[in-house]
Amino acid sequence: MTATRWLAEYAWLPGEAEPTPDVLVETVHDRITGVTPLTPGGRPDAGVEVLADAVRLPGLTLPGLANAHSHAFHRALRGRTHAGRGDFWSWRDQMYAVAGRLHPDSYLTLARAVYAEMALAGITCVGEFHYLHHGPGGSRYADPNAMGAALVEAAAQAGIRLTLLDTCYLTASVDGRPLVGPQQRFGDGDALRWAERLDAFTPDGGHARLGAAIHSVRAVPAAQLATVANWAHRRDAPLHVHLSEQPAENDACRAVHGCTPTRLLAEHGVLGRATTAVHATHPTSADVGLLGDSRTGVCLCPTTERELADGIGPARRMADAGIPLSLGSDSHAVIDPFEEARAVELDERLRTRRRGHFTPAELLTAASSAGHAALGWTDAGRIAVGDRADLVTVRLDSVRTAGVTPAGVWFAASTADVAQVVVDGQVLVRDGRHVRVDVAQELVTAITEVTRA
Ligand SMILES: [Zn+2]
Repeated sequence: MTATRWLAEYAWLPGEAEPTPDVLVETVHDRITGVTPLTPGGRPDAGVEVLADAVRLPGLTLPGLANAHSHAFHRALRGRTHAGRGDFWSWRDQMYAVAGRLHPDSYLTLARAVYAEMALAGITCVGEFHYLHHGPGGSRYADPNAMGAALVEAAAQAGIRLTLLDTCYLTASVDGRPLVGPQQRFGDGDALRWAERLDAFTPDGGHARLGAAIHSVRAVPAAQLATVANWAHRRDAPLHVHLSEQPAENDACRAVHGCTPTRLLAEHGVLGRATTAVHATHPTSADVGLLGDSRTGVCLCPTTERELADGIGPARRMADAGIPLSLGSDSHAVIDPFEEARAVELDERLRTRRRGHFTPAELLTAASSAGHAALGWTDAGRIAVGDRADLVTVRLDSVRTAGVTPAGVWFAASTADVAQVVVDGQVLVRDGRHVRVDVAQELVTAITEVTRA
């Protein structure tokens, strides 16, 4: 197969503090086969002839970005929950109402549009934290993995990779109250039956892989945490868990188990390099130590955490403890990796009243290679030979980015500045438009369907 040559005005290469000008990137099929910074003046050492057929990429080319935490159906709530007061728990009731209306066909339509919106934002891989497994009242579909299969198909149609983090969700509270109402659709009865269902599922297509998730210490009894963890360890699969998003979860865990949620997870073998804790907004110092010592990752979701009035997680303290940080858009209050990444730095500024906690290169790592690794794709998220051919090109001449240094895109750009997205060697977004999905129209149709009174 012949190589495709891409000539990036700037490309952000691994380990570099800033983008490198004039980089020739060669790809064959779905892989990067060459990365050559040209000599000053834009001439390759080997001569100019290789440039004649190169596809020009004006602006800054980044590696593929990863959205490490998504609940696709929450997108239907965007901008619809802001009347009156409330908190995480009242928002959750509104979220349950949407969950109650979805079935495999409507979820495919909605998720396809949401994943296509992600593609427009430069996201080439998503981690779908999936717990809406069953029909109304908890009845099984003929294929008990029909909802998961719909999400896998949605990602294929939208053109991005997906890790389906199939979520074990068994109880409504830390003290083991049963699932009621819409929550019944989440439950498999016990962790063994959750594992049995998952063992019967193989995602179609090379774009998807399976991972496991523990919804939270509220939703999986302590005695069953190890069953989920062992499933993930046996399959060498990523394991994700919502952790300490709310102080109320910490309080309930202390009351029932006499320890923090992080300590409980540690005691049951849940922490480790393949594990990602989502949020970790309210950890104790000892919790941060447990996460860091075990090299457990943390997925920050800053735009959701501020939208739901969760609080500000100790991002710098966690990074200093050796915790790899990744990013997720979670409830999809916005889907914008640039906004997500800069919030990590800007929230620290608000808390400390000082600037300069994270370098732009650290923000890039969180948005790209660390996110891919958290989802089990260790061969993506870097512009490097052997990695997957994902290239995300950001305009440097828009009304937002004009005059910005290339590294400054993290503090200036939005998804509207993503000009082109290549996933696994294929152009998926060209001139800011998805090549096969009318994203806005499909979002309107899908959201109208699931929010109709
Ligand atoms: Zn979540």
